[in-house]
Amino acid sequence: MTLKKKVTEAFTSHFGGEGTLYASAGRINLIGEHTDYNGGFVFPGAIDKVILADIRPNGTDKVNLFSVDIDEAVSFGLEEADMPSQQWARYIFGVCRETIKRGFKVEGFDAAFAGDVPLGAGLSSSAALESCFAFAINDLFNSNAIPKFELARIGQSTEHNYCGVNCGIMDQFASIFGKKDCLMRLDCRSLEHEYFPIHLDGYRLVLVDSVVKHELVDSPYNRRRQSCENVAATLGVATLRDATLEMLNAAKDKISAEDYFRAKYVIEEKDRVLGVCDALGRDDIATVGRLMYETHEGLSKEFDVSCEELDYLVEIARECGVTGSRIMGGGFGGCTINLVSDSVYPRFIETVVSKFKARYGHAPRIYDVVISDGARRYEE
Ligand code: ADP
Ligand code: MG
Repeated sequence: MTLKKKVTEAFTSHFGGEGTLYASAGRINLIGEHTDYNGGFVFPGAIDKVILADIRPNGTDKVNLFSVDIDEAVSFGLEEADMPSQQWARYIFGVCRETIKRGFKVEGFDAAFAGDVPLGAGLSSSAALESCFAFAINDLFNSNAIPKFELARIGQSTEHNYCGVNCGIMDQFASIFGKKDCLMRLDCRSLEHEYFPIHLDGYRLVLVDSVVKHELVDSPYNRRRQSCENVAATLGVATLRDATLEMLNAAKDKISAEDYFRAKYVIEEKDRVLGVCDALGRDDIATVGRLMYETHEGLSKEFDVSCEELDYLVEIARECGVTGSRIMGGGFGGCTINLVSDSVYPRFIETVVSKFKARYGHAPRIYDVVISDGARRYEE
């Protein structure tokens, strides 16, 4: 059954009649990892995996939801005290509350929704869910008066204030602003963004999910952030965005070896994002791929956020002749993102599944993705 049929049938059987369909997407990030908190660039795009919601105002002050995938109904009021206990419903409650807090209107509505963004695989199903409802609420109750960037912030604040996830803005930004066949370079210092068309004729983007998540005792994320801050302070810059390799090398004896390599990765990653943007302008896919491998090397050897499973996935990709491969996301597990030519694709998938399974006892999950539109009225 198509997603659309699932959602509209669920709406009709729970609420009767029909509503309006809205969609929003999960996202990938082609390059630009651990750059956001250093004032650098990220380079995400929305994908063809979506949350689809059928929504209709109900003339009350209650929100009635049905999650098709979880097969559960939840209702809540729109006051702070009405927070539901179900985690999935909190994403939507949070979006309502954050919209109201910003002085915009939310009234009661009925909604049924479902999705095909894999949960917890690093494709940001939660941002897709938030963006879908933020977009719909803007359209249904506010005549689209809420600026798009504010919709992304509503999703981000939802994660912070209702879901206990202290995330940056990239996921919600990508999900709201995503455009078919375009990646977006977001400058995490100025928050300006620019679209870059991506022509992947003869290539595919493939995620290989290790289905591994290493829980680490010390907080590796905070430690790395601290290293970046230490070096920025030593170099006398606000963030590593303003540092160069020359500056770093000139101050090398004032910096610990660990901090040096963390900062070196971040400074080089900033230039790699710009290099990928240039290469895409020339349709130079080989260079895009080479820079992705360089990012992986940096994340693994210098920033030290890889793990043996992810290094193995990238090693297999290289052996199979995959054009580019790297960790996507924070590291220590999760996915690799791979740029694969059509001719290499079948052998790569077969090899990566069998080799990984032989070594780790379980198969990785494979997700083909196509760069697509983000939040929208769903008219397909
Ligand atoms: P991700 O990396 O995919 O964003 P999160 O843990 O941040 O992983 O978000 C996943 C959560 O988002 C789920 O546990 C669920 O509460 C909610 N969610 C995502 N997709 C759906 C869906 N299709 N139906 C119901 N809830 C969903
Ligand atoms: Mg999430």
